[in-house]
Amino acid sequence: MTDSVAPVSPPRAFVSLIGAGPGDPGLITVRGVEALRRADVVLFDYLANPDLLRHCPEAETIYVGKKGFSEYISQEQISDLIVRKALEDGGKRVARLKGGDVFVFGRGGEEAEACALAGIAFEVVPGVTSAIAAPAYAGIPVTHREAARSFAVLTGNTKEGGAHYERLSGVDTLVLLMGVRNLDQISADLIQAGRAPETPAATVQWGTTPQQRVATGTLATIARAVREAGLEAPAVTVVGEVARLRGTLRWFDVGPGFGGPLAGRSVAVTRTRDGASALTDLLRARGASVLEVPLIRFAGTGHEAELHARLCDLSGVAWLLLTSNQAASALFTHLERLGLDARHLAGVRVAAVGPSTARSLAERGVRADFVPSTPGAVHLGAELPGGPGDVALHLTSQVAEDDLEHELESRGLRYERAELYRTEPARPGEHEMNRLRAADVVTLASGSAARHLAALAGTDFAVAAMGPQTADAARRAGFTRVTVAAAPTLEALADAAERAVAGEAGVGREG
Ligand code: SAH
Repeated sequence: MTDSVAPVSPPRAFVSLIGAGPGDPGLITVRGVEALRRADVVLFDYLANPDLLRHCPEAETIYVGKKGFSEYISQEQISDLIVRKALEDGGKRVARLKGGDVFVFGRGGEEAEACALAGIAFEVVPGVTSAIAAPAYAGIPVTHREAARSFAVLTGNTKEGGAHYERLSGVDTLVLLMGVRNLDQISADLIQAGRAPETPAATVQWGTTPQQRVATGTLATIARAVREAGLEAPAVTVVGEVARLRGTLRWFDVGPGFGGPLAGRSVAVTRTRDGASALTDLLRARGASVLEVPLIRFAGTGHEAELHARLCDLSGVAWLLLTSNQAASALFTHLERLGLDARHLAGVRVAAVGPSTARSLAERGVRADFVPSTPGAVHLGAELPGGPGDVALHLTSQVAEDDLEHELESRGLRYERAELYRTEPARPGEHEMNRLRAADVVTLASGSAARHLAALAGTDFAVAAMGPQTADAARRAGFTRVTVAAAPTLEALADAAERAVAGEAGVGREG
């Protein structure tokens, strides 16, 4: 008999400490995205762009944000939570998403220590720090052959003041993090420690995002410039000759259209079925901060035995009808459970409701035999090749609408339905609900999205609806500020969102 010595952490327990980058969601690393995709649980904070959570739609997400100086939850509690989540249920993969880089003033070292102490395997995925990226997006290189050969990153929170700054006297560029509030004191201390009052300086708020704002001046004037411009945390201040280079190297925050028409606005994109990423991308390109809100979630069928019996014997079935990506994916989950694969479908024809579902099938090795010319259940029912007596088996959820059935039966085909999966109302976390409530406009792509949104969060929103039917459904659900897209396209829906935030929505001005 051997005694077990230390507690052994479950084999799956693993923590990734990930640098999320400074704000632009494109500035996370490839390794960081991979770690997010694998995560069971994601802990993220105020500076990590929540848009990054799109890489881990299935994971449990926990907001552990700290805003400014007031701590939301303490560092010890965060470290404990990371360890606890990693050890939960036989071990989980935890992703800890931290703004900028993990180890630049992020207290990432303490979180790594907590993992090491608990015997949990971990990795560190460095990120692009705001200390370099925010100046870069303001057109300021932290080093430059002519102007600066060294730089230091320091925190403006320090109580040390003067003595500390004297030690930095040989460093060309200083980058101050967490220093907006104390900027008066800090610049006075720096001058006191020997830096020339006329040294160029710039402060960059929300660097790398459409909300980026910059104030410029000299060491003597920067605090006042920041106050006058109303800049607040999060911001970095660059002090040194390089700050002058913004005059020639400014590139990101230029032009009247900088940031796009939706800059600084937040749009919630609701989805009742599959991903809405194309719309999200469009809105982001216009500068919006986008929150994707799934209104329903998928669950297993409540009638598995019946479903399996039906799937095992498909004799007599002329068509399998699949009307969502989820259906395509659930079909293959069940075939796998039955020990079957795509070959089982050899004797039956398969129809998809539209190109997206067809693509999901193709990814699983099945080319759809039929896709209607216009996506939609009605078109599928009207155009499906076949005649009286042909059996069409619709594999779908418990809430499938009856259009398809009516169309097919009016043509004499025999419609059968099997419950392949269920949909349930989503239960967003508190942080997501708060972001949703703060949205300037919510997009609705269907009547059911309108009804789900009303049930989940009420009707006190400006909404942009995909078309007149969706708009009617939204009004019936109780929404009063409704803007309708001019055409049933994502571009038009994004235009409608823009009009809605511009305040053009309302009675008599729709359309
Ligand atoms: N680990 C982070 C820094 C965390 S300390 C990093 O590497 O970037 C928090 C401070 O970072 C903020 O007070 C602010 O000074 C700075 N910061 C983070 N994101 C920023 C951004 N997008 N723009 C400007 N400053 C930012």
